[in-house]
Amino acid sequence: MKKQSLKTISADSKKYIVPCYKRYPVAFVSGKGSILTDTEGKTYIDFFSGWAVSAVGHSHPSIAKAIAKQAVTLIHVPNNYYNALQSGLAKTIISASFPGKVFFCNSGAEAIEGAIKLARAYGGKKGKTDIITFNKSFHGRTTGAMSATAQAKYQKGMKPLLSGFKKAELNNIQSVKKAFSKKTAAILFEPIQGEGGVREASPEFMKWIRKFCDEHDILMMLDEVQTGIGRTGKLFCYQHYGIKPDVMLLAKSLGGGFPIGAIVASSKVENILQPGMHASTFGGSPLACAASLALFDVIKKEKLAARSAKLGAQLKARLTELQKLYPVISEVRGKGMMIAIDLKCDAQPVYDFCLNQGVLVNVTQGNIIRLAPCLNIKIKDFEKALKILTLAIKNISNTNEN
Ligand SMILES: *Cc1c(COP(=O)(O)O)cnc(C)c1O
Repeated sequence: MKKQSLKTISADSKKYIVPCYKRYPVAFVSGKGSILTDTEGKTYIDFFSGWAVSAVGHSHPSIAKAIAKQAVTLIHVPNNYYNALQSGLAKTIISASFPGKVFFCNSGAEAIEGAIKLARAYGGKKGKTDIITFNKSFHGRTTGAMSATAQAKYQKGMKPLLSGFKKAELNNIQSVKKAFSKKTAAILFEPIQGEGGVREASPEFMKWIRKFCDEHDILMMLDEVQTGIGRTGKLFCYQHYGIKPDVMLLAKSLGGGFPIGAIVASSKVENILQPGMHASTFGGSPLACAASLALFDVIKKEKLAARSAKLGAQLKARLTELQKLYPVISEVRGKGMMIAIDLKCDAQPVYDFCLNQGVLVNVTQGNIIRLAPCLNIKIKDFEKALKILTLAIKNISNTNEN
């Protein structure tokens, strides 16, 4: 495509794109590792990886090569024929997690939709169709996923919702008991709530849920769309807890930037979805699977889960030090390279300062800075981004004292 100015791109976007996204006046044209370059030639350090999608950096050579090679070989085949890349990727995921089978789709919300159907198909025969989800959760924007997302702001103006969701509170056993009934089919939650502000399920809570689900024949379904594949310092976040879920949902970084999602169903429920019950036209295409196989290869070769644990711990420790200097920080939370800085004030000025200085972060819940650096970020970029972020927090700290 011909090179365009930011002015043209933004004018055309305003004219032709449905305005459901708030956009900053920046258009990126290329990316390499953690560095993005915009139309004006300005560079940015990506400290958020596009909602944790670009976990191995932008246009990683191994992923780009795998996509290019597959694109000239075979892009799409319908799912009524075998597909070696799809079965190969499923084998890779199962070998790295727990015994079971995989269904491939194209996004996080779609993985959630499939999990809702799986839970209903599993429990429905016994009259169990309710799903418990948690306040501050985020599961996606399609109607079912939005109904599962227990945050009113995402449901505003979109009612009626899909019925059958009961709300509880993360780390609050009593609230789960209260939401539970003989109609409960599943409990669906993020091991670390991302959009909700990087809030971790406690080990005790996780173990209690596992036991509770076993006792009542409820499916424990973990939304690892954001926490999956090395982000939190283990390949999958559940591995921190010494438990295994019945169902795990993946997407975000799964294709190294290429869209792909997955439902990982443990052996207990691996055969619930039978022919005719669920499908996806694009799900698990050779191209998407080639990208994802390359992603797993990079994560393994570059030992990125371990790096995420180590560098993430450093990041958290350094930010916790900052909290002593700047009491405007109320808490630093997170695991691996999934970190939140909870502020006692509006976080937008921090975002704006960072963007201006060439660092991309995220603001969630209004007052929380969320960080999800590329797992293979170069130390020099990591230090530079941290320096700019520190300055931003210093500035906001000064303004808030006055
Ligand atoms: C982003 C996200 C989703 C939705 O994924 P999409 O690909 O945007 O549909 C679901 N769950 C969690 C935890 C997420 O972070």
